[in-house]
Amino acid sequence: MGDYFQTIVDLDASAADAERLARRVVDRLVTEGIVLAERTDCVLGRPLGHPPGPSWARAVGDLDADEEPWDGLAVHIGRTVFDGGQDSPEAVTCPLCAATTPLESDPYDEFLPEPDGRSTAATDAEDPWPRFATALATWQTTGDAMVVCPACRCPAPLPDWTWTDDRLALGHLGFEFWNWPELTDDFRTRLSGLLDGHRTAYVWGKI
Ligand SMILES: [Zn+2]
Repeated sequence: MGDYFQTIVDLDASAADAERLARRVVDRLVTEGIVLAERTDCVLGRPLGHPPGPSWARAVGDLDADEEPWDGLAVHIGRTVFDGGQDSPEAVTCPLCAATTPLESDPYDEFLPEPDGRSTAATDAEDPWPRFATALATWQTTGDAMVVCPACRCPAPLPDWTWTDDRLALGHLGFEFWNWPELTDDFRTRLSGLLDGHRTAYVWGKI
C-alpha cells in the first residue's frame, strides 16, 4: 500500500499572489482546527507540513472507523507541475479547438533511458507525449511554454490545456494533503473561496 495525496491547485494565482493566499488559507484551516499551525515532518516531498488538527474531520466526508489522516498538509508555493504520481493523464484537451488528444504512453518515459542509452517514447513519432513532456519541463524552468495542437495545428500556452480527470495541473500554489480520507466537495469549494475566486484543480495521486 502506497502513499496517496490530494492537491487543490490554484490555477490563477501569480507568483506574487501565492504567498499571501497560502497564508490566508493556512490561517483559516488552523482557526477551524483542520490542521495545526506548527509544522513537522509529516509530508512527502517537502521538509515540513502541517499535521492534522483536532477538527480534521470537517474537511472529509463520512468515514469508516479506521479512516483518519495519518500525514499532513504540504503547501507548495512557486511554479510547480502538480501531477498524479503513478497515475499519468489519459488525455489532454486543446484550449482553442476543444479536441481531446489521447495520451497512451507514460509521460516520463522519455526521461528514462533504456539500458542501451536509447529513449523509449522518442522512437514513436506519432506519440504526442514527448512534446507535452518537453513543454512541461520548459514551463517548470521558464514559466512559459507552448504546445502545437495535434488537431487544429495551432500553438496554445501549456497552462491553458485541460488534463482529463485533473491528473495534472500547473500553478504557483497548491495545497497537498498526504494520506487523508477523500476531501469533500464542500471543503474544496470553501478552500477555493479563499483564493480570490480563482479557478482550482483537484489532483489526486499516489506514489
Ligand atoms: Zn486545437
